[in-house]
Amino acid sequence: IERTLSIIKPDATKRNLTGKINAKFEEAGLRIVAQKRIHLSMAQAGQFYAEHKERPFYGELCEFMASEPVVVQVLEGEGAILKNREVMGATNPANAADGTIRKEFALSMGENSVHGSDSEASAAREIAFYFSGLELV
Ligand code: ATP
Ligand code: MG
Repeated sequence: IERTLSIIKPDATKRNLTGKINAKFEEAGLRIVAQKRIHLSMAQAGQFYAEHKERPFYGELCEFMASEPVVVQVLEGEGAILKNREVMGATNPANAADGTIRKEFALSMGENSVHGSDSEASAAREIAFYFSGLELV
């Protein structure tokens, strides 16, 4: 059974949307098997998003992710990586399908409420970035 790393981003935690977003995951058949609230430092955000280092929005993205606490979580289910990205919707909320998290809650391309791993390799890296083996059952 597949697992993926999800982050409820600062724009959503600030607006108290954690429960509504978690309900979307559960309705889609994704199980929340680990979850915690953390406040990333700029250095940690930069390391997490290292693959985007050369992109023009990298500095803005890291500042945003370090601006307020986030909720990091591991979601489990059949095809969890793809299923989570379907529930999230397109990166730009203007292009997100009806019923998706980003369509309902995202404020902009940057402040788009959620992150989800985009491949098996990134899911493995990203889960290990935030959770130790002891925290995962
Ligand atoms: P995520 O990786 O967060 O799940 P994604 O895979 O849909 O989102 P990426 O292309 O990996 O999108 O970009 C990572 C994040 O960087 C986006 O979720 C968004 O918050 C931010 N971002 C992407 N493009 C832009 C942009 N043009 N302007 C501002 N922020 C952006
Ligand atoms: Mg991505």
